[in-house]
Amino acid sequence: MRIDTRLAERLKKINPSSTLAITSKAKKLKAEGRDVVSLGAGEPDFDTPDFIKEAAVLAIKGGFTKYTPTTGIPELKQAIAEKFRRDNRLEYSPDQIIVSCGAKHSIFNIFMALVEKADEVLLPSPYWVSYPEMVNLCGGTPVFIKTLAENSFKVTLKDMPRYINSKTKVLVLNTPSNPVGCVYSKEELEGIAALCVEKKIFVISDEIYEKIIYDNLKHYSIASLNKEIYDLTITVNGLSKSHSMTGWRIGYSAGPQDIADAISKLQDHSTSNPASISQKAALAALNGSDDFARKMCAEFQKRRDYVMQRLKSIKKMSFVRPQGAFYIFCNISQTKLSSQDFAGRLLDEMLVAVIPGDSFGRDDYVRLSFATSLEQLEKGMDRIEEWVNRL
Ligand code: PMP
Repeated sequence: MRIDTRLAERLKKINPSSTLAITSKAKKLKAEGRDVVSLGAGEPDFDTPDFIKEAAVLAIKGGFTKYTPTTGIPELKQAIAEKFRRDNRLEYSPDQIIVSCGAKHSIFNIFMALVEKADEVLLPSPYWVSYPEMVNLCGGTPVFIKTLAENSFKVTLKDMPRYINSKTKVLVLNTPSNPVGCVYSKEELEGIAALCVEKKIFVISDEIYEKIIYDNLKHYSIASLNKEIYDLTITVNGLSKSHSMTGWRIGYSAGPQDIADAISKLQDHSTSNPASISQKAALAALNGSDDFARKMCAEFQKRRDYVMQRLKSIKKMSFVRPQGAFYIFCNISQTKLSSQDFAGRLLDEMLVAVIPGDSFGRDDYVRLSFATSLEQLEKGMDRIEEWVNRL
């Protein structure tokens, strides 16, 4: 049997992650002993705080190692409800909250609950690499809204209407965003909310980078703006970035009761509960202070400032100042290379790993991550500067 006749139709359209292709090549070179500088990381380079690890150890020692309720243990859902109230001025009852195996899983579940054939999903572009593939998996159609660097890559009310039709069902908003680091203001969100309410478009609000925000900006949750948009929004967050817990796999969503109930059924028959031990760790994290996130963010801000200052002296690269997350999206059009060629050659010739922008919808960009030490950033930027100036 040929491979294309064996696979289900739904998987044939899915692209492999080109983000992973570069990072696995970088890892291979590193394993061979080469001095690779990785500016590709999608996770904080800090260790998970000890008080969180200790809660997990206690859970293991106390035998908390069995199935839990599918959507999460009640005390964790309560802690998430309190977090939403405290940080986001959002009222969700624990029944509206679903704890999943990472925010990626939460988002996938929401698409599965809402999107099917003929549904269109609006994705501001550049976008996080997994959104379009998830929409494809659900049989929906991703519709990319082109955004401009001059506008910090944010969607505007001027752009949106021409992408909306009777099939438009969902808008995905990601603030602060990966890969561009833009942060939507309250006024911008109010405009988008009014349009979504008027057109009855659901919003998936991916707020996973909420705690990594710079220049004293404030994060706003679109669902907190008014009752009408609250009823159309599913808010997503998690512990991966805020507490440097990417490996623990805890994310969560909260939204209208019927959507939460549907996701609960889906999770019942697919993954069941996220790991019991990770749930206890997440509970400790949410009941702890925000000190860890604050310190990490201050460190990221120093690194961001350093990378921006270095990039300013590289003539053939430009960037938009990131206001959140830990990435800097760099325009490479003056090098005349495609993003794959740029990233591939930079890795081969200078041993620096960056992520090609075509994974995020822009082939004239690459994404640099500053989730690595200042020493590594300095070494990486030295090499990039030397190489790009030679091109
Ligand atoms: N949303 C965005 C925008 C992300 O960048 C990521 C992680 N790369 C996720 C969601 C998924 O996070 P998690 O590790 O919790 O699944």
